[in-house]
Amino acid sequence: MRVYNSLIELVGDTPLVRLKKVAAGLAPTVLAKVEYFNPGGSVKDRIALRMVEDAERRGLLGPGGTIVEPTSGNTGVGLAIVAAERGYRCVFVCPDKVGADKLAVLRAYGAEVVVCPTTVAPDHPESYYSVSDRLAATIPGAWKPDQYANPNNPESHYHSTGPEIWKQTEGRITHFVAGIGTGGTITGVGRYLKEVSDGRVRVVGADPEGSVYSGGTGRPYLVEGVGEDIWPATYDTSVCDEVIAIGDKESFLMTRRLAKEEALLVGGSCGLAVAAALRVAATAGPDDVIVVLLPDGGRGYLGKIFNDEWMADYGFLDTETEEATAGQVL
Ligand code: PMP
Repeated sequence: MRVYNSLIELVGDTPLVRLKKVAAGLAPTVLAKVEYFNPGGSVKDRIALRMVEDAERRGLLGPGGTIVEPTSGNTGVGLAIVAAERGYRCVFVCPDKVGADKLAVLRAYGAEVVVCPTTVAPDHPESYYSVSDRLAATIPGAWKPDQYANPNNPESHYHSTGPEIWKQTEGRITHFVAGIGTGGTITGVGRYLKEVSDGRVRVVGADPEGSVYSGGTGRPYLVEGVGEDIWPATYDTSVCDEVIAIGDKESFLMTRRLAKEEALLVGGSCGLAVAAALRVAATAGPDDVIVVLLPDGGRGYLGKIFNDEWMADYGFLDTETEEATAGQVL
């Protein structure tokens, strides 16, 4: 029988898919690493598994233990999947900009969810960082993976995502593009690809306008999972050769194009990353191979990015032409 003993065995080994329509007319090959093929539906399954296994090995998480983490949803799902298999309780702390459907998914996996205001400073007692610290300190047997500081976050990408991309492109990759949230993806993948290519691969971060990574002050933006108002330990600033800032509107219009034109129903940070990848592609050559990582699927965003009224309320959907040409470098 060809069976898997657990969903956990299906983490990683995600496919590379050519972007044909949104990259039409551009010289290089543009390939998407589609992370929604992970069992929890996002790239975060990779870090969840490695962080839990490391905590178990070091005796930080044991039978009857509770996982407490501030997460925008995807890391929560990854952790919840591993926790369900191994019998841990999960308590997740989310900012209030996260969609209701994402919170419902976490609860469906059996996790408890605490929602905190997005607009308060990170050191405010009600911020999602502060609340999760407090819960981790007061719940007996609690362990906080701390994806913003845990070295297993970038290491999971150094050991899985990076080598997969190198193998899948047979070493032909010339540019790697990814959004920066904790920075784990770009740090781990970027470090691996630079090492294995003797520094040849160019690493490009994609960041929401307003976030600190692209020189902003942390002012609010709507795209979820990327950008920061702090500098986390998991982001190695020396890995990125360039960071490109992309606005909410362009990110969301590109996200909608990916679903309609490439049949890739993905999240808003994917539109952001692809918009940045197309800017890179506009100045790259015909032999270049650009890989852009798409962190998650689009079903958690049906009430927002894929909802015309929501888009129009924010002024993101002015004309049909605007949607059809989003991301085109004119
Ligand atoms: N997109 C989404 C939807 C995410 O949840 C995350 C993780 N925060 C990212 C992008 C960014 O990945 P990383 O944390 O590895 O920088």
